[in-house]
Formats: sequence, structure tokens, C-alpha cells
Amino acid sequence: MQRILTGDRPTGPLHLGHFVGSLRNRVKLQNQYETYIIVADIQALTTHWETPELIRTNVREVTLDNIAAGLDPEKVSIFVQSMVPQIAELTVLFGLYTSVSRLKHNPTIKTEAKQYGFTDMTYGFLGYPVSQAADILFCRANLVPVGEDQLPHVEVTRFVARRFNELYGEVFPEPRAMVSEISRLIGLDGNTKMSKSLGNAIYLKDEPAEIKKKVMSAVTDPARIHRTDPGHPEICTIFAYHKAFNSSEVPEIESSCRKGTIGCVACKKNLINKLEETLAPIRERRVRFDKPGVVEDILFEGTNRAIKAGEKTMGLAREAMHTDYWKES
Ligand code: ATP
Ligand code: MG
Repeated sequence: MQRILTGDRPTGPLHLGHFVGSLRNRVKLQNQYETYIIVADIQALTTHWETPELIRTNVREVTLDNIAAGLDPEKVSIFVQSMVPQIAELTVLFGLYTSVSRLKHNPTIKTEAKQYGFTDMTYGFLGYPVSQAADILFCRANLVPVGEDQLPHVEVTRFVARRFNELYGEVFPEPRAMVSEISRLIGLDGNTKMSKSLGNAIYLKDEPAEIKKKVMSAVTDPARIHRTDPGHPEICTIFAYHKAFNSSEVPEIESSCRKGTIGCVACKKNLINKLEETLAPIRERRVRFDKPGVVEDILFEGTNRAIKAGEKTMGLAREAMHTDYWKES
């Protein structure tokens, strides 16, 4: 059976961007692949090292979000990155032959460095794509369902796997990225991608009243002042959400917006109903699993399964690199 590795940084609760970018695919594929979901606490700490308590709280949140979205904890292994020592070991090995310039030129690193105001990047931040290669390769994953911003990182992982195999012998598959049709959902501000760090998100756990408030106050087409003015759906945030959550009505909404026969308020109300269809079952599953100890047990079990996979891979890597010193020859 082929393997999937994907996951999230525990920097905040998961939102609609995660859902369309990656979560929806995880849920769909969980029966066809052996699935590992990483709660990437170390990666989160590469930008949030001053607030480890925030990351700790969100490890539970993000795990619960994944289960609420429909992942079956019996089938998939949800685990904490920092509790799998083999990931740290592999990070060191992969760093031996990955050049600094490859990391400096990574477009996602550049965007995020700007976002966080990092002028003098730390070793850990610059190197997180190497650590992410270890996240993906510790279980020798074949497929990585991710949003668009992660594509440069999957390229680094493919390089890391290929080069390791050339240098030391065939150990790692070269994993493929899988991007969904909507690989970058715009945020409520209409400026940039929906992100938990930017305060422009609708969260999976938001209550209906909160969702209504967020949608009703979202910016639409600024050129539409009167209800009958012709609209430009291609620049409208609400239209982007219809594409993600209400695909069957998209042609009709598009033409009536352009003709000015549907107003923004009606269009938003329609969207709110469609979002509820997706989010109500997620909210129900959340309540079912949000009990003391339940999430903790799921993470403990998942992490133990990940450690087993990591031990197996480390054995192969050590053998290939001739660092299996205590093994009898
Ligand atoms: P942070 O700001 O802490 O980096 P984030 O919102 O970018 O948080 P991540 O945990 O970094 O979320 O990303 C988890 C996964 O969700 C990745 O595969 C990422 O590509 C995807 N993703 C995140 N935001 C979006 C979005 N707006 N649209 C589509 N996919 C997204
Ligand atoms: Mg991110």
C-alpha cells in the first residue's frame, strides 16, 4: 500500500483554506493509502520560538480539527513531529548535502521571511524545508496532498530523496505533491491567502453566528455600489468561496452577477447556507471527540505508529550510510 504524509503547523485552528487545499483530499484518500498526518510543532516553532505554550495548545486543536473534518483515527496515524526522534535524525543527515543557496532561493521561504519580518534568518527557519523533507521521508511517503505554497518544499524533498539514493543507495521514494483544484483559497480581506497567522480566516470550528458575521462583512466587488450594477466575479472573494463550496451553482451566480440581477447580500446569504452544509457535520464530529483524554490518546497511538515507521526507515538509512556501527557484520 502506498503512503501519504501531510499535515499542519499547530499555530492556530484550521480554516476553510486548509479544508479545500488539503484536508478534503486527506479525508477522501484515507482508505486508499496508509496515511500519516503530522502535527508539525517544530516547524511551527521555527517562526514562533518565543511562544511555545501557544504551539502546545494548538497541537490539540489541530488534531481535533483533522478528526472533525472526517479523518478516522483508527485508520490514520496522527502524530506530533517533535515526539518522533527519527525525524530529527534524518534532518541532520539531509542537511549534509543540501546547499544553503537552494534554501535561500526557495520562493515560499522568501515570502514567509518577509511576512514575519525576518531580515537575519535563523538557521532553523532557513532550514525548515530540510526538516520538512524528513517529515515526509521518515515514513517513505509517496504522495503529499498540500496547498500551492508547499510546492517548492516538496521539490526540496524530491531533491533530498533523489540525492540520498544517488550517494548512498536506494532508500527513499521520490514523493509527488498533490494539489487540489483550489490550491490557494483567498482570505476574507481579499488580499492574500487565507491563513491562520493573518486573521483573515473562517475557522472550521466557528459557530454559525460568527460565520454569518464574517461573510456579511467580507469585501466584494468595490465597483458594485447599487444592487443592479454589473459585477466582476473574478475579483470577488465571495465568488471564490462559491467556487470552493457551491460549485454546481457557479455558472448561474457568475452570469447573474455580471448582469447585475443578483445582489451581494443575496449572494452572501446563499453562501452562508452552503458553508453550513459543509461545516455542520464537522462541528458535530468535533463535539463527539472533544472529551478529556480522547484526543491525547489518539495522538499517543498515532505517534507510536509513526515511531515504528521511523525506526524502520532509520535502519535502512544507517545501513546505506554505513553508520550502523553496533550492527554485527
Ligand atoms: P501558518 O500561517 O502558520 O503557516 P497556514 O494557514 O499557512 O498557517 P499551514 O499549517 O502552514 O497553514 O498549512 C497546512 C496546509 O494547508 C498546507 O498544505 C498548506 O498549503 C495548506 N493551506 C494553508 N492555507 C491555505 C489556503 N489559504 N488555501 C489552500 N491551502 C492552504
Ligand atoms: Mg503555512
